[in-house]
Amino acid sequence: MLRRVRSSVALLVLAIVAVGCSSSEPSSTASTLPALPITASVDQTSSPPVATPGTIAPTTATAPPSSAAAPSTEPSTSGDQGGLDNDDGYLADGTTLTLGNTGYPAIANLDPPLLAALQAAANDAAVEGLEFRVNSAWRSPEYQQFLFDQAVAEHGGEQEARRWVSTPEESAHVTGDAVDLAPREVQQWLGQHGDQYGLCQAYANEAWHFELLVEPGEACPVPIADASAG
Ligand SMILES: [Zn+2]
Repeated sequence: MLRRVRSSVALLVLAIVAVGCSSSEPSSTASTLPALPITASVDQTSSPPVATPGTIAPTTATAPPSSAAAPSTEPSTSGDQGGLDNDDGYLADGTTLTLGNTGYPAIANLDPPLLAALQAAANDAAVEGLEFRVNSAWRSPEYQQFLFDQAVAEHGGEQEARRWVSTPEESAHVTGDAVDLAPREVQQWLGQHGDQYGLCQAYANEAWHFELLVEPGEACPVPIADASAG
């Protein structure tokens, strides 16, 4: 059908061209104009095939950016992080904060007494040349669930996972009552001096995880074995 239409259109065009060439009168060209709508409608019916290359064009258009270095890492990162962002307290791998980064919900949503105790400790540790870095602090329930699911996949079951990552219902990170600190020197310093600020290592298997567990100057409780042992 299309071929027929096209060939007839071609004939029409030829006719128009022929008429246009033979006749110097514009009116005769105008008289053949009613044929033009047909050409237009043929163009429209042939436009779907044109549209298919058009839909291919966007995919090829998105392909170059995805093959480009920066955008290709972005989708993969978003895949890894489960759509989480700063508002969830999420920090990209390798990103650490200071206690002064209160523009980040991870810091801003910490329990104020915990943040104050950490800042006091950080000030005193700074005298000894140590800088508190925060790997993780407040987390949204969604972020905590994401971490828990990851741990389940990694450790092969919920029971083992709970030794390392708490559920959103249990995690002190979700309530803003815990921080994970770095580097190791800071962890060791706070392990020794944290009780002066009420800051204690909560779990024996997490040297980085501190909570405000006692009054300043009181002795910290012995860390429990792991997060599942509470
Ligand atoms: Zn922690």
